[in-house]
Amino acid sequence: MINKHIPGFPRIGVRRELKKALDAYWRGSSTRDALEATGRMLKLRHWSIQESAGMTFVATGDFSFYDHVLDVSAMLGALPERFGEATGGIGLDTYFRMARGDASLNIPAMEMTKWFDTNYHYIVPEITSSFKPSLSTLKIIEDTREALKAGYHPKPVLVGPVTWLSLAKAPDGYNRWEKLDGVIDVYCEVLSRLDGLCNWIQVDEPVLNTDMFPEAKEVFIDVYRRLNRASGDAGLLLATYFEALDENLDLALASGCRGLHADFVRGPHILDRILDQIPETMTLSAGIVDGRNIWRTDFRQALDVLAKIGKKLGKERFMIAANCSLMHVPVDLECEKSLDPELKSWMAFAVQKCEEVDVLAEILEGWDCCEAMDENREAMHSRRSSTRVTNPEVIERCALVTEKMKRRHAGYAERKKAQQWLGLPLFPTTTIGSFPQTPDIRRKRRQFLDGELSVKEYEVFLKDVIREVIEKQERLGLDVLVHGEPERNDMVEYFGQQMDGFCFTSNGWVQSYGSRCVKPPVIFGDVSRRKPMTVEWIEFAQSLTRKPVKGMLTGPVTMLCWSFVRDDIARPEVARQIALAVGDEVRDLEAAGIGIIQIDEAALSEGMPLKKKDRAIYLDWAVDAFRLASSGVSNATQIHTHMCYSEFNEIMDAIASMDADVISIEASRSRMELLEVFRDFSYPNEIGPGIYDIHSPRVPPKVEIEALLEKALCFISKERLWVNPDCGLKTRGWSETMASLENMVAAAIALRRSHSVAGAGDA
Ligand code: GLN
Ligand code: ZN
Repeated sequence: MINKHIPGFPRIGVRRELKKALDAYWRGSSTRDALEATGRMLKLRHWSIQESAGMTFVATGDFSFYDHVLDVSAMLGALPERFGEATGGIGLDTYFRMARGDASLNIPAMEMTKWFDTNYHYIVPEITSSFKPSLSTLKIIEDTREALKAGYHPKPVLVGPVTWLSLAKAPDGYNRWEKLDGVIDVYCEVLSRLDGLCNWIQVDEPVLNTDMFPEAKEVFIDVYRRLNRASGDAGLLLATYFEALDENLDLALASGCRGLHADFVRGPHILDRILDQIPETMTLSAGIVDGRNIWRTDFRQALDVLAKIGKKLGKERFMIAANCSLMHVPVDLECEKSLDPELKSWMAFAVQKCEEVDVLAEILEGWDCCEAMDENREAMHSRRSSTRVTNPEVIERCALVTEKMKRRHAGYAERKKAQQWLGLPLFPTTTIGSFPQTPDIRRKRRQFLDGELSVKEYEVFLKDVIREVIEKQERLGLDVLVHGEPERNDMVEYFGQQMDGFCFTSNGWVQSYGSRCVKPPVIFGDVSRRKPMTVEWIEFAQSLTRKPVKGMLTGPVTMLCWSFVRDDIARPEVARQIALAVGDEVRDLEAAGIGIIQIDEAALSEGMPLKKKDRAIYLDWAVDAFRLASSGVSNATQIHTHMCYSEFNEIMDAIASMDADVISIEASRSRMELLEVFRDFSYPNEIGPGIYDIHSPRVPPKVEIEALLEKALCFISKERLWVNPDCGLKTRGWSETMASLENMVAAAIALRRSHSVAGAGDA
């Protein structure tokens, strides 16, 4: 029998039960017992789904009340000192304090960052010299016992020690590998306790699919020698995913593990090498169903790969699986009641992906699966040939894109002169786009969507909001105003809804972090704009003031990164299509008299490939897409962009080559340290390092802002420096927003006074 499994199941629940239970518990409106009961119910339900779908074993330990990396940190007793001591283990409330901080005691949460190249965020482990690894939670063992007791065959899943240590944050100069021995001791204890409860234990080491630390490579074989010994009769399944194994294949094959799980969705080319070199004692688990996207598997293609493995290894040493945990896709497609049936027939969510794994195995076993095969073939055919996917006009337009279309008419220096008409002072002040989305705005949007408010009424309401926002900004004395984005629920969804080629689910939630979930749009076909998307709002805002109003758009790469993207054409192609649509909007805004247009590329660095060697190619097409979207305007039109992170060093060249006239970036949390990069690399155009952390309600005092700006002036010349917050103000309340912006404007005025030059236009 070929074994069938999935590396992990989504834990939020098909109706976001976990989210609701967590929020209620944190709010204090439900009990710990109720929360734990929800957790148990979800685990049992997810095991039952896997078993009914024919999986040989069910994943245990993949369920988490917050994050699977934090689970391992808690298991190891890696409790940062500020949370107290871990003696006697780490309980659920301490665990939540690690994840969320403790506001009453002013203890900051542990850091959070993106899990490899996904949109899921994990809690970054913290290691200091005082960390003494000791077994501090039994969660994975208890969960596995629970599954056994309920009659399932468990396959415990946990993040491996080399990945955990590699992802940890250690103080400068501290050698994290000093803790390796202690960490391995705890893992060994856990594995030996799991031995006897299961046949397989899945140990996830996705760092193998990245450029590993040299130290990590060095210790790898030794670590696994110890772990394999500790797990006894239970075989270790070394799980690798998110990329091809390439460079680290030798390590994986030499690990001595009884099984290797490889990602053949991302790295199909590695198969021949694996089949060639795999030790005779090793089982291969083929990750062939895509856990990162919502498309159905093309059985014919998958079977080509699988048949090859079967032929070489036989059924005994062969498992079929999803390539990675299914936590990156929504739970159940059956819940989509209003999705277009044709589009729906092309998709598979977690439940359906389990079923795909099952059918693929049955076909290989020689069962009669003609019906499933035919059905799959039909779906693939319909997707390939549907007129809704292909739009000849878009394809033709893309083919006609020239290099010239990706270049502004003149260089920055000349454009700067042409933009004098904007009449901006030295150190111009502006915001990133959104203003507080008040409960009133959300309520009205709901009423409009529910049909309780007519289009007309909703429009009148939004225009009132815009009028108010413009008045407030005038009163504050900001230089470049925005309309405040009250009509947008989400910066990607808003545009996707106005473009062809996008569709939306009603329940397609995936976990972003903790209790937070997102519902990404789906890009299924060629993208084009039906009609102007923002012009009416921006034009209206501009009609209310003599100050310039900045038009606000979302850039092509961000649209791509925050959606489920079609996999039948290459991503750069999709980016180019979106860029052309955004470019049309840019030109329409210009024609409507808008002199400043911002194209947000909030997610540019998120799309970055895991391996360094692949990054240049990505940055090339990402920058190209931005330039295509932004270059169709005259020299007199000022193009802005915005990015929400501060890890710049690596991509500085790429950012400069986007050639936006002005870029705003997040900087205040790092106290402008990121600006150090400008010491060696002088950014050619204008730049606004955020001086106000919008992630917190704290009001930055004027002197603090001034100090940050003075610091920025050490790296950026005064003609190039803008004054703005870190990001949009959508999640903030009005009172702290006004107070902060008041201080920001006051700081800019003070700075102008002390740095004034004749003729800078500061009337
Ligand atoms: N213009 C958007 C806003 O202000 C940008 C948001 C973002 O960068 N995430 O809300
Ligand atoms: Zn931002």
